[in-house]
Amino acid sequence: MGRSEALFERALARIPGGVNSPVRAFLSVGGVPRFIKRADGAYLFDEDGKRYIDYIGSWGPMILGQNHPAVKEAVVKAAENGLSFGAATEKEVEMAEMICSLSHIEMIRMVNSGTEAVMSAVRAARGFTGRDKVIKLEGCYHGHADGMLVKAGSGVMTAGVPDSAGVPQGCARETLTAAYNDIESIKRLFEENKGEIACLIAEPVAANMGLVLPKEHFLEDLREICTKEGAVLIFDEVITGFRLAFGGAAEYFHVTPDLVTYGKIIGGGMPVGAYGGRKDIMSCISPSGNVYQAGTLSGNPVAMAAGLAQLTILKENPQIYEKLRKTGQRFAEGMEAVKKSCHAPVTVNQIGSLAGVFFTDIPVTDYETAKQSDTKAFAEYFHFMLEKGCYFAPSQFEAVFFSAAHSKEDIEYTLECAEEFFRERVLL
Ligand SMILES: *Cc1c(COP(=O)(O)O)cnc(C)c1O
Repeated sequence: MGRSEALFERALARIPGGVNSPVRAFLSVGGVPRFIKRADGAYLFDEDGKRYIDYIGSWGPMILGQNHPAVKEAVVKAAENGLSFGAATEKEVEMAEMICSLSHIEMIRMVNSGTEAVMSAVRAARGFTGRDKVIKLEGCYHGHADGMLVKAGSGVMTAGVPDSAGVPQGCARETLTAAYNDIESIKRLFEENKGEIACLIAEPVAANMGLVLPKEHFLEDLREICTKEGAVLIFDEVITGFRLAFGGAAEYFHVTPDLVTYGKIIGGGMPVGAYGGRKDIMSCISPSGNVYQAGTLSGNPVAMAAGLAQLTILKENPQIYEKLRKTGQRFAEGMEAVKKSCHAPVTVNQIGSLAGVFFTDIPVTDYETAKQSDTKAFAEYFHFMLEKGCYFAPSQFEAVFFSAAHSKEDIEYTLECAEEFFRERVLL
């Protein structure tokens, strides 16, 4: 028995499902989750000493690669001054100014996770508009707050439960859902609930049902209808923020949301989230306004140090985004070539440093088409690649994340392994 197996057995006795977040369990692919001992650059090393090329990047934060020396140094330096004060610090101001260097973010509030950022942004939108209803898009994940666990993508899709138990009817009732990329279904919801919609929240690029790109004009149309109906447009950029571009999807697609939620990258690997945007809306937040939101560890000095170090590198080295784009493109083009040469029934979506390989030959543009994927075939592929030392997320409905640490050789090797898989599978 390897160390991962032994640890998993101990974990199962004391932690529900043996993991502290469901997507880490190999629920839909079977087998024992690898317990990771350390990580460096593009690689993860498990407790048994096996090396993997890391295509998860801690689910998004590690855009510079694992254990980046500048981020680590910032954390160690901050820790020497104490771990938490529960009082205002200079680092928080620097972080706020860093994020507000984006023209569409006038004010920002730091929290501790993406879940908290979304929960708070939705509350701000409700407080600002005096309305209750929220529109979310099917297959988009916005964290696990009660009202957001409706048709919520990846983790929930993988577990095969459409909604979570324990969410009161009353909470879910205020959340209306429409299909991603289907502006007509969204218009209908606005018509049927005239003057009642506080906000529409969307992942501008949906990265929690695999990877689904917005159709041309979709984001502009969202902007237009929210403006027309007096609803707050929230872009959940917990994945896309500082990843598609420094200014996230808003910058990449030139569409300006009213509020934005961040997480993952802004913490550099520490637990951080943030929400911000228009000053008139953010001024509703306590103590300047009457929308209450608080946090004992919010703006934690060690977490701010890690996030600031990572954001500073991204800001000062815009060529990183070009490198990331090339890496993503090399992978996608390579997979297209494998698909062709092996007649593999897969669909490859990619944008910048995000990709999705769906085990279906139809175009994947929303939740319904994503769900057509052959998850059994994906599980086979996943284990084949894992054995070869390529660590993809253990679910068909998670994105592939590239970091600045991935080399050309890492990608080439991964493509060779994928080709080997599809060659053998077609022969079966
Ligand atoms: C991960 C994620 C969240 C939740 O963030 P946590 O830090 O896990 O709470 C919210 N929205 C999106 C788009 C995410 O990918």
